[in-house]
Amino acid sequence: MMGQIRKPFEEILEYLKDKKKIVIMGCGGCATIFHTGGIKQVSEIAETLRKEGKEIVEIGLPFGVFCCYLPMSSMFVDKYIEEFKSCDAVLMMSCGDGLQVVRKYLESKNIFKPIYPSNNALGFFGEGPEEFLEKCQGCGECKLGKTAGICPLTQCAKGLLNGPCGGTRENGKCEVDPEKDCAWYLIYKRLKEIGKVEEIKRINEPHNWNKTVRPRKLKVEPINLHEKLKETREVIESLGIK
Ligand code: SF4
Ligand code: SF4
Repeated sequence: MMGQIRKPFEEILEYLKDKKKIVIMGCGGCATIFHTGGIKQVSEIAETLRKEGKEIVEIGLPFGVFCCYLPMSSMFVDKYIEEFKSCDAVLMMSCGDGLQVVRKYLESKNIFKPIYPSNNALGFFGEGPEEFLEKCQGCGECKLGKTAGICPLTQCAKGLLNGPCGGTRENGKCEVDPEKDCAWYLIYKRLKEIGKVEEIKRINEPHNWNKTVRPRKLKVEPINLHEKLKETREVIESLGIK
């Protein structure tokens, strides 16, 4: 998921200072999980902005409707297209990915409006429901098969690929951050646990950062959205999850 935090309200207000009619669009994906753009947060910020004299149109997306996935978010943009046409600005309560997908879609409809982010995106985070940790930086050439399933690029403060830097503390913590486990201490421990400790001696090739030349592009066969949603419901029901 895209980890994210809310920008300070003063920054959002500064963006909107000369604007009267604002469309606020949330996100039913990561932004709902991180409380930065769910239906509740859209309503809360709308209320606060109304107190600042703004006219607000709220577009809260239900959970599972991702701003960044155009087949889903475009349905909501289409539904509120007149509001988008007549507004002074759009406030996106998603990550920067969702914002830019919606901006481009609006432009394809000849709607050119100032569009502002309410959040700061931080990168991929996993786990939950309360605590999330950054685990992967989307390097384009995954090393996990060679590092016992622990990412040294993300977990090691120096991104080292071939063992620890020499500064690992006696208690297995990182020299840079004593609160954090040394990535290579964890890799060594786990290799031992899975009976592959000899793999610690392998020399890994330097990382090919060419795979992160941006912006990257992917092409996939489009999914059938309605079929997939039906499938999700069926699987949940078959597992007896309430
Ligand atoms: S090596 Fe690390 S950063 Fe690269 S894809 Fe794998 S988990 Fe992600
Ligand atoms: S102590 Fe471990 S995690 Fe910290 S920088 Fe050195 S090798 Fe990386």
